[in-house]
This record gives sequence, structure tokens and C-alpha cells, in this order.
Amino acid sequence: MAIGILGGGLAGIAIAAHLDEQCEVLEKETRGGGHCQTVQEDGFTYDAGGPHIIFSRNQEMVDYMVSLLGDNVHRTRRNNKIFYRGRYVKYPFENGLFDLEPQDRFECLYNYIKNDYPPPKTNFKEWLYHHFGKGLAEKYLIPYNEKIWNVPAEQLGLEWVEGRVPKPPLEDVIKAAVGVETEGYTHQLYFSYPLRGGIESLPRALEQKVANITSDFTVERVWKEACQWCVSNGRATRRYEKLVSTIPIQELAHAVEGVPAEIVAAVDSLRYNSLITVAVGFDHARLPDYTAIYVPDPEVRFHRLSFPALFSPHNAPHGKSIVEAEITTNPGDGTHEMSDEQILADVIGDLEGMDLAHPGEVCYGRVIRTKYGYVVQDDNYRQHLKQAKAYFEQIGIPLCGRVAEFEYINMDVCIERARKLADRLNHEAAVGVQPAEVAV
Ligand SMILES: Cc1cc2nc3c(=O)[nH]c(=O)nc-3n(C[C@H](O)[C@H](O)[C@H](O)COP(=O)(O)OP(=O)(O)OC[C@H]3O[C@@H](n4cnc5c(N)ncnc54)[C@H](O)[C@@H]3O)c2cc1C
Repeated sequence: MAIGILGGGLAGIAIAAHLDEQCEVLEKETRGGGHCQTVQEDGFTYDAGGPHIIFSRNQEMVDYMVSLLGDNVHRTRRNNKIFYRGRYVKYPFENGLFDLEPQDRFECLYNYIKNDYPPPKTNFKEWLYHHFGKGLAEKYLIPYNEKIWNVPAEQLGLEWVEGRVPKPPLEDVIKAAVGVETEGYTHQLYFSYPLRGGIESLPRALEQKVANITSDFTVERVWKEACQWCVSNGRATRRYEKLVSTIPIQELAHAVEGVPAEIVAAVDSLRYNSLITVAVGFDHARLPDYTAIYVPDPEVRFHRLSFPALFSPHNAPHGKSIVEAEITTNPGDGTHEMSDEQILADVIGDLEGMDLAHPGEVCYGRVIRTKYGYVVQDDNYRQHLKQAKAYFEQIGIPLCGRVAEFEYINMDVCIERARKLADRLNHEAAVGVQPAEVAV
């Protein structure tokens, strides 16, 4: 086989779908899709790794993803809210100021205008104060971000922020405060989602273009022998001329033989958050018509709720409804150590506290744990990642995707980078570039 692709998530499948040469995808789970797997159970459909909507700042990528789905696509207008002091405030918070108590509204607007915080030097907390002012920062942005990232905001670096957290124009904030409708984050105001089959329909559509996917193959050992890459799961060994990795960089660093200790140490220092998703189904269809609710309150365990039946009407049986809660967690934080039953009960309790659930209505519940949820970009992140990526590129294993490149990127960027990598490999094959002779 010419090319081996480690990992059958969206990135791995997308690379394979765009390669001219013969290739094989090695996936540890019984089916591919990775973060994009969907659960279909008891008539409910929801995404296992948290809700996945199709949007992008790059319209070409949106068009491409939607085209993969053919007519299996549903378009929705965002109706997100932030649950703040018992009120449902329009999302993003800065566009929803009119929904706040007058005093909160005043503090947010006044501090946004008067803002005299110096430009940020090192961390995200400084960035939030400088760009949004004390009111918006302290009431929503800091508590929400500290929940989702599970670290104090001053421990988060700055590099990922620009572009991800847009600064609203002053005019919009004033309009929002006096009650004139404005919209923020307009690139995701409308989004698409598969009509049937959940987000997993996307990797499934790409899979139609892939001949060889081997599932139940956990990459445990990788080494080079006679100019070929050998990959073993402990029972069988595969051989390839070239290798590409989309598996978590941590797993790769420990599988490849002969990786220098300083590279392994750099990789091991990369921080991430795990994710727990909790799906709760109800025997009625009376949930609000919100697409998602953001919950900055530190007393509530989940940071976000989403409503899959708003993404597609086929995601819940007739007369029923479903909500999916997301909880960021790490070993040692108490949540990580809770049993699934405890977590489910806790989430239902908080839903009751928000008047979204009532005793006796729950007809379905499932807890799912995802190890590599969010990359945490702390101070050492950029340098350690650069060092590790350069090493794998130099030995001839290019990395692609969210967990392999260890970047906070979405499906659009994963597919875009997968296509670029496939183009590069196709070009190398066409002009006869041989893999570099590197001793590993
Ligand atoms: C909570 C959450 C919400 C998100 N929401 C959105 C959204 O709304 N829209 C959007 O565009 N993007 C969203 N994303 C991002 C999106 O999920 C990712 O960008 C994309 O799915 C990553 O694909 P990947 O192939 O790079 O990684 P993965 O999906 O993680 O794929 C890696 C694959 O490698 C396999 N693997 C791991 N170890 C081994 C091994 N040792 N041997 C063999 N195989 C192995 C895994 O099983 C997996 O299949 C979200 C992400 C999260 C966490």
C-alpha cells in the first residue's frame, strides 16, 4: 500500500477521499468519524462529541460540506441564548444587552465605552478586559470561558483569540443596549446540519470515496524498516511507503519508535480538556425553541446546552424532545471522577433548576466521554507544538486535523487542510518525489 493514514476521523477520511494513490485508513474504533460520530438511539439523534453544526467563514468550505450531503441537509437560523441571573439573554451577550436588568445593562455599556484597560500583554483575561470592558468581561466572558477551558483566564495565551472572539463595533453595542436588534458572529447566524443521520453523515459521505478503511485497528507501534513505514496494533503489521497521522499527537509520540525524549516531553506538556456530553430525552415536545443556551454560572456543571431537534426535525421522535449538555472536565476536578449515573442526575437537577425539566418527564439519558475535547493554549503551547510538529514533518509523518495538529480548528479547516495535504501527496507522487531517508 502506498500511503497509510493513521486515524479515521474527519481529517483521515477526507485525506483518503482526495488521494489519487492507493491508501488505507487505520481506525481504532469500530467505525470512523471520530469527533463527528452521532448516536441514534430510541428515536433520538445527537452528536456524541457535542453538537456539530456546519458553518465557516470560508463560504467555499460551507458549499463543499453541504454539497457532500446532497439533499440530506437542513438549514437553521441560530436562536442561541445566555442564561444569566435567571434571564435568557440573546447571544452573543454584547448583542443581547437589552435583555439584562437595567443596572447590568448600564454597567456593560458604560464600561465598554469608558474602557481604559491597557492592551493585553500576555493573557486572555487582559485581552477580555481591554476589548470588552469590565462589565461584559466579568458578567459573562470570563466566567463562561473559565468553565469551558477549565482554567483561570489568566492562564490562557492570546494567539488563538484574534478572529475567534470578534470585538463588536461600538454602534452595535449601543444599539443592543437601547433595544435595536443587531446580530454578532454573523458567519454562524445561519447554519446547516444533516436532515437525517446527524453530523456523522458528513464523514459517511466522504467515506463513499474511500476504498480501504480498517477499523478496530489501534496504532500502537510505528517504525521504519527498509524504507517502509511499519504500523502495528500488537497483532498485525501494515507496511506503507508514506505515512500521514490524524491521531492525537500524544498517541503518535508514544507509538513512533525512537522519538527523542525532548519531543516526547514537549508533546506530553500539551494541555487539553476532556468533554462529557449528556443527552436527556423528554416525553414531551415543550422545550423552548432555542438552538443553544450558554450557562456562565459556575454553580451549574454544564457550560452549554443544545437542542438537536432544532438542528433537524428528525432528531427526536414526534411528541418528544432532547437536550444535550456539555461539561468540560479533567482528571482530579471532581466531575471527571463522578459516575455516569451521578452526572446524569446532576444534569437533570440543573435542568430542573432552569425550569427546563420536571420530575417524571425524562425518558432517555446517556453520558458520553471524549478524551481529547479542547486544546488548552497556555504559555508554552505554541513553542512545544512547533517543536513537535517540525520533528514529525522532518521524519516524514505529516500531521493533519484537530487532534494531530493539536489546534483549535473546526470541520471546515480540517477538511481544507486534508485536501491540501492530499494535493501535496498527489503532486509528490506525480513528479516522483521519494520519501526522505530518515533513520527513526
Ligand atoms: C465539543 C465540540 C464541538 C464542536 N463543534 C463543531 C461545530 O459545531 N462545527 C465544526 O465545524 N466543528 C466542530 N468541532 C470540531 C470538529 O469536531 C473537529 O474539527 C473535527 O471533527 C476533528 O476531526 P479530526 O479527524 O481531526 O479528529 P478526530 O475526530 O479526533 O479523529 C481522530 C481519529 O483517530 C482515531 N484514533 C485515535 N487514536 C488512535 C490510534 N491509536 N489508532 C488508530 N486510530 C486512533 C480516533 O478514534 C478518531 O477517529 C467541535 C469539536 C468539539 C470538541
